[in-house]
Amino acid sequence: MSATWPMIALDVLWVVLLTLACGVFATNMWSGWHAVVGYAGVSAVAVLAFTALPLRHFLLAQRRTAAERERLLAAESDRRLFESQVIRALDMAEDREGALDVAIGAVHLALPGARGEILLADSSRAHLAVVATTGGHDLSASCAVDTPRRCPAVRNGHALRFDRSDALDACPHLKVRSGDCASALCVPLSVMGSTTGVLHLTRRDPEPFTTADATLVSGVAQQFGSRIGLLTAMAQSELQASTDPLTGLLNRRSLEDAVRSLTNSGTAYAVVILDLDHFKVLNDTHGHDAGDRALRVFSRVLRGVVRDSDLLCRYGGEEFLIVMPRASAVDAADVIDRLRLELSAAFSDGRTPAFTVSAGTTDSAQAEEFAELVSLADRALLQAKAGGRNRTVAHAASV
Ligand code: GH3
Ligand code: MG
Ligand code: MG
Repeated sequence: MSATWPMIALDVLWVVLLTLACGVFATNMWSGWHAVVGYAGVSAVAVLAFTALPLRHFLLAQRRTAAERERLLAAESDRRLFESQVIRALDMAEDREGALDVAIGAVHLALPGARGEILLADSSRAHLAVVATTGGHDLSASCAVDTPRRCPAVRNGHALRFDRSDALDACPHLKVRSGDCASALCVPLSVMGSTTGVLHLTRRDPEPFTTADATLVSGVAQQFGSRIGLLTAMAQSELQASTDPLTGLLNRRSLEDAVRSLTNSGTAYAVVILDLDHFKVLNDTHGHDAGDRALRVFSRVLRGVVRDSDLLCRYGGEEFLIVMPRASAVDAADVIDRLRLELSAAFSDGRTPAFTVSAGTTDSAQAEEFAELVSLADRALLQAKAGGRNRTVAHAASV
């Protein structure tokens, strides 16, 4: 648009000069009123012809501006449409893996010629690992950055573009990658305000990523981070609602839910009820805090001796309940013997006052209902207490 005004000024100069030339021509050719008419006619034609020029320049510039505005509007509306599709897809993702699939798929859709990869930090936030790539690319060919601190995009907290991998100011991790990365775009991923990963895009050909590419990918990264944050918060509150805050073991309600699905699938299982011996005395002697510590130590040791598939529950106070899928009452009694050994080893450092545990076990061959099995195991536990404590009684037809 700015280049048009000098052109218009030039055109106006031409019109003035031409009009003067017409005057000279007309007065040379004719005289008297012929000269006046000739001068007026020739200069009118010249002025009309030449004023059309600046007008044409002006209209062309207007049309160019309007076309550019329309192109920008169309690009912005495409971007918004794409972003709302990404948000909708992420809303439907139920877990981290689902959200990763959406994010990597969105990046592939937006920039099909580029190779994409997502690196996320582990729970310690100390290590980065590739967790998703576009089009099943070989993971070993991914960026070798191994900690968030060593990634320039994560350190800077904003997207970085590298037009050439051999440039002086290219990312050091890009420089050492094999010849298949000529340009790169690296966008940090933030979850709940802290940067925990990076979304990398690389191209084999030396075709630099544009500002529009960076805006598009940053939008995907931002939506992905929000969804992961929400999923994490939901998982945490679900965990809090289903576990006992002191020991981290399942609470009664979540244990009963888990047992219901075991029963529905027809899986046999053993039930164990454990009760810490003379715990009131331990509390009275060493204080309530020492009692709490003892409950945590007991839970930790218990976790160490059972299988991952066993269900551990703090049933109330100093009572615990274990459900062991595919185990009998006798198998369960063996596990409790092992627990007793591990427990006495845990007291060897002298930091926790020593205590013992009594247990009653049974299994699903003895009764159909879970509530009935609990009461059978409880009866066995009473026998263990009556028999002198620090022992296990198995309630099973075969014993
Ligand atoms: P027994 O061998 O017959 O089971 O004797 P006991 O003393 O263990 O049983 P009792 O039922 O008389 O006392 C249970 C004690 O457990 C009393 C209670 O203060 C303690 N206890 C229950 N829950 C907690 C807890 O969360 N923290 C602490 N520190 N103590 C607890
Ligand atoms: Mg008790
Ligand atoms: Mg007790």
